[in-house]
Amino acid sequence: IPSVRRRMEQLAAEGIDVVRVTYPDLIGTERARDVLLDHLPSACEHGLAFCRAVYHTNPEGDVVPVAGGLDAGLPDICVRPDLDTLTALPWEPGVASCLGDVTDPATGLPAPESPRDLLRTVIDRCGEYGLNPVVGPELEYFLCDADPANPQGWRRYSDAAGVVYTAGLRADGDNHLLRTLRLLRDLDIDISSGNHEFDGSQFEINLNHSDAMTAADRAFRFKSAVKELARKEGRLATFMAKPFQGAGGSGFHLHMSCVDDEGNNAFADPSAPYGLTAVARHAVAGVLAHAPALAALANPTVNSYKRFGPDTLAPWLIDWGLDNRSAMVRIPPERGFGTRLELRLGDASANPYLLIAGTLAAALLGVFAGEEPAAPLEGYGYDTAVSALLPATLPDALDALEADTALTEVLGKDFTTAYLSYKRDEVARFHRHVTDWEFTEYAYHL
Ligand code: GLU
Ligand code: MG
Ligand code: MG
Repeated sequence: IPSVRRRMEQLAAEGIDVVRVTYPDLIGTERARDVLLDHLPSACEHGLAFCRAVYHTNPEGDVVPVAGGLDAGLPDICVRPDLDTLTALPWEPGVASCLGDVTDPATGLPAPESPRDLLRTVIDRCGEYGLNPVVGPELEYFLCDADPANPQGWRRYSDAAGVVYTAGLRADGDNHLLRTLRLLRDLDIDISSGNHEFDGSQFEINLNHSDAMTAADRAFRFKSAVKELARKEGRLATFMAKPFQGAGGSGFHLHMSCVDDEGNNAFADPSAPYGLTAVARHAVAGVLAHAPALAALANPTVNSYKRFGPDTLAPWLIDWGLDNRSAMVRIPPERGFGTRLELRLGDASANPYLLIAGTLAAALLGVFAGEEPAAPLEGYGYDTAVSALLPATLPDALDALEADTALTEVLGKDFTTAYLSYKRDEVARFHRHVTDWEFTEYAYHL
């Protein structure tokens, strides 16, 4: 605690008077409490109480806990600030944010549905085999302007098409991207670059590679920060997988390699097939073999499956290729220390901790199995005669996760049970809801 007091004094000297303690819930939403600085020592000693439920917004626009939470009496979880992650928020003077770790007050142990703990467990499993994962996330999102005339209250910031890599005002009318990059630079999440994506209002920002936990923490904070900055300007930034009919989806690509205990890239071997070590090839084979189950984490919403499709640059089939953007796993052309794979499966709505944990778990299972992947795809990657399809819907992916006992053994039974139960409830809520599509399709003709 003396060290907490010292940290508190430093923060006060920096003009900080509030610490925002946040944690990712099961679906990756940021949950937070703003703690007055004087109370930080007590928060560190006893933890902060949060209600354990996972919340969602119902069709009436109310935020409510999911079914099941109330049955259990909405018990508490305990969140302890991790002061190593303290960072001042550049757009909110006086406030620093830090991540928290979630325990179950009944046992004092990490809560099984805590995504950060799950990732820690999987990283430790990799470490037991001398593999230290290196991860670089790339995230895409859409920016919307408020529009009271639109039933949803929002419209795309711009509906131009084909503006990929268009710089400056021609695609980004008031330089949203430049402003966002500069503010994020000061948030200590090591952004490397940003660009306009294919569709009007769609942006991509790349995070520099790091160890897997840092990558997940940064991706989680990145999503919150982008949403917060948009909100400050009266806008909505959305990481939904496919928010608009007729525009592309938003991906959450993961670049991944491993360093060995000597710090060498364990994926690079210029004399091996494709310049990839056996570990790298087995990792690819593992990701391909477990892809249907991994989709449940990488593509976690009902909407996610509308991003998949032929000719989309999002994947549709379970395949890999050398510098091929139509494949689910792409091996970028750099070799030597930059040798890595790029998993293009995930969409931006994925919880970064779960996407990274699931990917590492699948890769590790591939290393255990020691299998070689089939020959990499050449050319067009959307031929169903060549490769198998990814799951077509969230329920299919959830069934695949449940059936993949090797993967669920690495992820843990308690986590898997909590995740499947939350997500199956989400699917049931969707199926109970009458959508616009149904009215258009049926009301006039039937
Ligand atoms: N938007 C595409 C996706 O959903 C990716 C486009 C790109 O290659 O950057 O994955
Ligand atoms: Mg992109
Ligand atoms: Mg990419």
